[in-house]
Amino acid sequence: MLYLLYILIILIITITALGVWIKGGGQKAENSIPEVLEGPEFKTYKAVTPESPLRLKHFISQSNEINVSSSLVMGHKEIIVFTAQATKYAAERLADEIEKTGLKLTYVYLDHAHLDHSQGASVLIKRFPDAKFVGAPRVVALQKLRIKADDKMALKRYGENAAIPSVPFEALDSNTLMIEGREIQLTHNQYGDVGIGYEDEPHTIAYIPDLKALLPTDICYFGAHMMMGGTTPKSRAKWKEQLRSYLKMDVEVVIPGHIPRTWSDKLTPKTTIEYSLKYIEDYENALESSKSSDEVIAKMLELYPEQEHTSALYIGTLINFGETHRLLFNPRLEKVMSFLPKSFVKWFDKNMFESKKKAANLL
Ligand SMILES: [Zn+2]
Repeated sequence: MLYLLYILIILIITITALGVWIKGGGQKAENSIPEVLEGPEFKTYKAVTPESPLRLKHFISQSNEINVSSSLVMGHKEIIVFTAQATKYAAERLADEIEKTGLKLTYVYLDHAHLDHSQGASVLIKRFPDAKFVGAPRVVALQKLRIKADDKMALKRYGENAAIPSVPFEALDSNTLMIEGREIQLTHNQYGDVGIGYEDEPHTIAYIPDLKALLPTDICYFGAHMMMGGTTPKSRAKWKEQLRSYLKMDVEVVIPGHIPRTWSDKLTPKTTIEYSLKYIEDYENALESSKSSDEVIAKMLELYPEQEHTSALYIGTLINFGETHRLLFNPRLEKVMSFLPKSFVKWFDKNMFESKKKAANLL
């Protein structure tokens, strides 16, 4: 009896020690606080409609803040912001830009329910308590559902730079947003990047006729790897179809969801849309011609060696190959898993992903 107890104690100690060792191999919170703010000045675009007061300023966070675009749409008295940023310091700098204008912030608009576009609201709401934080009903329902997981993930990814706790956005069931009597047109339920969502994860794009400006957020990227995780041949076909339709639009400005600040001088409406279209096609070719996630990643890195936001390529591809445990980027865990039967690892990965996916989506 005593002998059995000894074995049990040794087993518990071994498992605990293994657990501690695996945990120690996990990724540390990324250093997402930029030391220098580099890159060209943020661009401001003027209205093409002669009598319109509207202007658009394109704010971009730094590379280690994953190059997130925010669009500041300004009139004489009011300002509306699309995308609240990912981190605390990026959102503080965005708030400084808003404050500098001296205009009244009326709306902060959430175009899709991903944490890199929503978390900064926790900073903005403190600086601008009278602003309304809104998004399409389907988008905000998803954001609310994901708040707990998003806050946990933001803390893990950004450490002290995490913009938490999340602010729940309010549903705005409308196809337009007005600024000083001028119209911003909203098109909902567009296909774009997905991550842990279903293939039809909703995205809202905005079009501002006075500026001939299109804000497609994460449906367009420029100079950066695109998040292709969770997409399917059907959703990618829809995504490409949308991009082709944007190419036919009369636009002077297109603001991609992610763009390194150093690439902003090369930004033109056509090149941005064409870049996104080509990236999806290249990714599909890499998927079709590869046997493993590592092969896809290697092919895309060879084709896009200078482009930033590589985390999107890694995370997206591991999701597409169902390698959930590798999403923790913990080499010690991967080592232990490599000793286990492949069928068990596959079963473990599938169950872990399915339960997370179920919790992060509405039926
Ligand atoms: Zn994004």
